[in-house]
Amino acid sequence: MFFLAFKVHKLAENSFARFVVNPMMMYCLPRTRMAVRNATYRTYFSTLQQSAPQHDECRFLLILGKPGGGKGTISKKMLVDFPQLHHMSTGDILRANVRNGTALGREAKFYMDEGKLVPDRLIIDLVLSDSTPMLKEGKSLLLDGFPRTITQAMALEKEVNVDLVVNLDIPTETIVERIADRWIHPASGRVYSYSYRPPKVKGFDDITGEKLVQREDDKPEKVRTRLAAYDEATAPLVNFYDERGVLETFQGTKSDVIYPEVKNWLKLKIL
Ligand code: ADP
Repeated sequence: MFFLAFKVHKLAENSFARFVVNPMMMYCLPRTRMAVRNATYRTYFSTLQQSAPQHDECRFLLILGKPGGGKGTISKKMLVDFPQLHHMSTGDILRANVRNGTALGREAKFYMDEGKLVPDRLIIDLVLSDSTPMLKEGKSLLLDGFPRTITQAMALEKEVNVDLVVNLDIPTETIVERIADRWIHPASGRVYSYSYRPPKVKGFDDITGEKLVQREDDKPEKVRTRLAAYDEATAPLVNFYDERGVLETFQGTKSDVIYPEVKNWLKLKIL
């Protein structure tokens, strides 16, 4: 029995065997970490019995950048050109929880309104419980807004391999101008920019005609807090992923100019 278990273990450790048995899942799940190895094997045996993955390669992508730096805009463009990607934005998930008045939303609202990061204990389980099943099903994922702290990055690394990180480096002055320009329809979460995507009637939602408001955390003093939180907690992630050889930085002030470069890099890496 022990001998048989040992053989199976060795077989699974052999990368060729992994490739043959289940290339999709092994690409996304950590290849080296002892802590998750057993769980990985369990999953890989169980996925053999599940439905086949839907496309050739499973990828796990992150998008990093200062608050208001265009992560949402670049992500949307990526989804058009790389439709195999599933998008998960922690900001959107948290705002939906706030709108729906869930326990998580009630707790998160306080921090979000102040422009502070939601505590790691609230966000880590939320993201991992949603993202890892998708990866295990063989889906490719674009995670926007997570991780934002080294603790979050380490928790993520225990569960999945990050394949690619798009890091947006946008000047702070551009961000401050952009955020002042951003107005939302609170009930739906629809976002307008008076410069780039103005509503048909200034101050009112195109679909419902209801009033647009500024996000509480888009008010100038909160924007300063968010940028400070970025510098302190999130900026170190640039080195974290750079050291792992998966990060590329894109600089500029306009998403339309930055995006083609992002797209070219992704094409080299994804296709
Ligand atoms: P932005 O990137 O412009 O700050 P987001 O929509 O990504 O906007 O996030 C809005 C807010 O949600 C953040 O200011 C923070 O309070 C909270 N948030 C989102 N993601 C995280 C995260 N990974 N960790 C902690 N807080 C988060």
